[in-house]
Amino acid sequence: MDQALVGQLVDAARAVVAGRAISANGHGNVSVRVPGEDAMVYSAASSLSGLGPEGVVLVDLDGGLLEGSLPPIQAAVVAMHTFLYRHDPGIGAVLHTHAPAATAFAVARRPIDCWIEAMAMFGLADGVPVAGYGPRGSDEAVANIRDALRPGVPAVLLANHGVLSFHRTAELAVLVNGVVEEAAQAALASQAIGGPVAIEPELRAAALQRVMAFAAAGTKTA
Ligand SMILES: [Zn+2]
Repeated sequence: MDQALVGQLVDAARAVVAGRAISANGHGNVSVRVPGEDAMVYSAASSLSGLGPEGVVLVDLDGGLLEGSLPPIQAAVVAMHTFLYRHDPGIGAVLHTHAPAATAFAVARRPIDCWIEAMAMFGLADGVPVAGYGPRGSDEAVANIRDALRPGVPAVLLANHGVLSFHRTAELAVLVNGVVEEAAQAALASQAIGGPVAIEPELRAAALQRVMAFAAAGTKTA
């Protein structure tokens, strides 16, 4: 197994746990595509808390186990990852969590709208759609994910289950999972004072353009 990819996966798991955009039991799974091969490295432990290199396996994109030992609870959701890599060659990493606030929206089967600026900045200007329920990792669940995907949108909520984030790199997938959770938290907190208000559509693009302009200008040094 490519130890650099294993390291990326382990670092991603650690970052998700450190960022607390995950349920208390740490349940989730993360994978990283093996460049140039129809394969991925994948977390075999049912919790991302304390995941080490020994908890990473190599799986081909047809779901066949190539290296390591894969327990049933994690084997059951392999198809959710392999589908995304086959669907979009631009996807380099997939992350699934039960981040609590985002999962509340998934349980309510309510999409998350562009309530915070970070959503506009990270590809979620049109919000996070909800994929209909199907038993975790089943053909039905995967078909529902496929139906919910929007071009360029790096996350979907899984009805009655959790969140799925996917991006070019594991770092970006972790970031998206965190942004979705932050938006969901803020929306739930705002329910006590009238509920969340989405950013005006024309201003979502402006928010992204502004951050890109600052990024292009680079770090200022006095
Ligand atoms: Zn799950």
